[in-house]
Amino acid sequence: MTKTPTTPTTSLSILNSQPAERPAEPGADFEIVDVWETLQGEGPMLGRPATFIRTAGCNLQCPLCDTDYTTNRRAVSAEVLIEEIEKSRNGVKFPANWLIVFTGGEVFRQPHMQLAYVLCKLQAHFTKKDIDLTIQIETNGSLEISEHLSTILRALEVLIIISPKGRIKTFWYDPEWRELVYFKYIGGQVSSYDEKIGLPGSALGRLAAVSLPSGYAVMNNRVFLQPTDYHNEAESEASRQAAVAACIKNGWRYTPQIHKQLGLK
Ligand code: SF4
Repeated sequence: MTKTPTTPTTSLSILNSQPAERPAEPGADFEIVDVWETLQGEGPMLGRPATFIRTAGCNLQCPLCDTDYTTNRRAVSAEVLIEEIEKSRNGVKFPANWLIVFTGGEVFRQPHMQLAYVLCKLQAHFTKKDIDLTIQIETNGSLEISEHLSTILRALEVLIIISPKGRIKTFWYDPEWRELVYFKYIGGQVSSYDEKIGLPGSALGRLAAVSLPSGYAVMNNRVFLQPTDYHNEAESEASRQAAVAACIKNGWRYTPQIHKQLGLK
């Protein structure tokens, strides 16, 4: 019998008090809160050096989310953003290939025309320097995207990492996205897993969509499972063991958060 997933009990007690925000109106500013260099600590690009850009605001308010996507919020043009990326490099020459990760908050709540423009400007900037740029967007997958943005994402071969919270928009399951989309589920305690599908039905205190299109069940190397950091060793270890067991049983790929282990931002 399939066990109904439950919201994990946890010792994490700091509840996310940042407001849930609607997607930005067309013509609104593109807003970020931070730009920094680090290693990508999780998912398919794990270990790659990267510039991270955290966009402002989120359309969800996951109770156990500990990401600050509000402080130091500011509107930036594509040109100013490129200046900030260069500044975070401290004058050191970029290597021959580089990764830029847009994370949130929720990236797709930014105005789509402006986001598409930023992506194109970044690509052009790095191409001019002869640098092979990979762009990755981390998203909760719950928002629609415009046709224009969709075209740009595919033209630039932007990698989309969906970490499901709430309901995923099903267009992400369409064949045209197959080569670009990865799923990164955050597993809690063993009780949070749907036994039949082998994925957690909740993430960070919020119900998550426990479904994958049949193609992805076969292409399970595109499905990652990451344990929850409870800031409590016993609970974190139980979460790690639950994720390891689910990966071995179902063929998902396990991902830690090495930036946390290394004390990186
Ligand atoms: S979707 Fe992500 S950034 Fe938004 S509240 Fe949930 S965990 Fe935090």
